[in-house]
Amino acid sequence: MNKQNRQLIREMREKNRLTNPAVLKAFSKTDRIDFVPQELQNRAYEDIPLSIGYEATTSQPSTIAFMLEQLRVQTGQKILEIGTGSGYLTALLACLVGPSGRVFSIEYVNELKEFARRNLEKYNFRNIELKTGDGKAGWPKQAPFDRIIASAEADQIPSAWKEQLAASGILLTPFGYHLLKIIKKSPECFEEEKFPFFSFVKLK
Ligand code: SAH
Repeated sequence: MNKQNRQLIREMREKNRLTNPAVLKAFSKTDRIDFVPQELQNRAYEDIPLSIGYEATTSQPSTIAFMLEQLRVQTGQKILEIGTGSGYLTALLACLVGPSGRVFSIEYVNELKEFARRNLEKYNFRNIELKTGDGKAGWPKQAPFDRIIASAEADQIPSAWKEQLAASGILLTPFGYHLLKIIKKSPECFEEEKFPFFSFVKLK
């Protein structure tokens, strides 16, 4: 693995944001420089969000690590990602579910979906599907999902996400400067947990 990527991982571990061995392994297989625009490549290994154009940023790696630790992804699972952006989180999710799992990712801005597609081509994933569209509607054809993760903040949690979540599934989304974790106990019963001090871009 690239020495600077290893350094970034060490920094995240020191901040106590990265403890789960499977998440750690996914970060060691995914080099952040592959998901950063040319002009910002000298900053790829800094633990900060980086602009990817179209008012979007690729999230801070330690925030992504925290989200992935909360999401508790298992191999073979079916995941829905809202807001593909650079494809960095998409790649990490694809590593976590492994070849028997699937990652479906929706991006609003077609140019960003193409950016993510080019970035992901550097890897040999066979378990990722990308599409352009409004993530608020989810991806009904592929539902239910074991996990749903959004990288942009909604004013209201779209009902489609809760509906498309499988039984015992976990939904993670930014909400009101918090990271909100919702666990589906039954079609009508959802358990919530909130983590403060996170800031994300708004959903379009
Ligand atoms: N995890 C991504 C973060 C991208 S930022 C990364 O690390 O690169 C959030 C993304 O959500 C942006 O690319 C933005 O264009 C996208 N987005 C905003 N509103 C959306 C919507 N309604 N549906 C799908 N994607 C949306």
